[in-house]
Amino acid sequence: MKLIFLGPPGAGKGTQAEKICEYFGIAHISTGDMLRREMREGTELGNAAKAVIEAGGLVSDDIIIGMVKNRVNEPDCENGFLLDGFPRTIAQAEALEGITAEDMAVNIDVPAEVLVDRISGRRMCSGCGAGYHISKYTKDTCEKCGAPLYIRDDDKPETVLNRISVYNDKTQPLIDFYDNKGLLKNVDGNRTPEEVLADIKALVESI
Ligand code: ADP
Repeated sequence: MKLIFLGPPGAGKGTQAEKICEYFGIAHISTGDMLRREMREGTELGNAAKAVIEAGGLVSDDIIIGMVKNRVNEPDCENGFLLDGFPRTIAQAEALEGITAEDMAVNIDVPAEVLVDRISGRRMCSGCGAGYHISKYTKDTCEKCGAPLYIRDDDKPETVLNRISVYNDKTQPLIDFYDNKGLLKNVDGNRTPEEVLADIKALVESI
């Protein structure tokens, strides 16, 4: 089972991806999480990507494609995987065609005016990378590992608007790309996480 999640920043891709991967026993591949780990560990790649990410831009296609190519060959991907945050450009989607054949692209649709609110309440764990929202979780340490929570640099209001505009320019065209391949399924993401999850599960079960 090879799935792709599409949707703007703040659509809930990460939250849903975690649950779907657990339920279907497939690997969760989040390029954003991979890049943040590289930054935390201060690797060459992490240091090179930092400025672009913090400004809300996109890391170069070559770097990201290389990262994903290696990742999908790891043993935990044998049963399948879910790509969360990749592809983000037409060039990445075309490169993916040379790496693997996807079964479905799920587009989580959320109106622009809701996104900024959602993102401004987002908190991240500095230890394990788990995500939270202040409307549901008010502690300042992680429930899973106890490390302090922080606000992602690219979740600051001035950067969020740039991310949404980058999404509109570069990533939104992928909706048509996957629709033309007959792989696109749309889900209304402007509902409770439980309702959205139930819809996605039903779609994946229909594969
Ligand atoms: P979002 O909340 O926008 O879904 P992510 O955690 O997926 O954020 O990604 C955070 C940042 O990492 C992006 O704004 C971008 O700078 C970089 N990034 C993640 N995935 C990609 C990708 N496939 N191509 C280019 N840059 C990426």
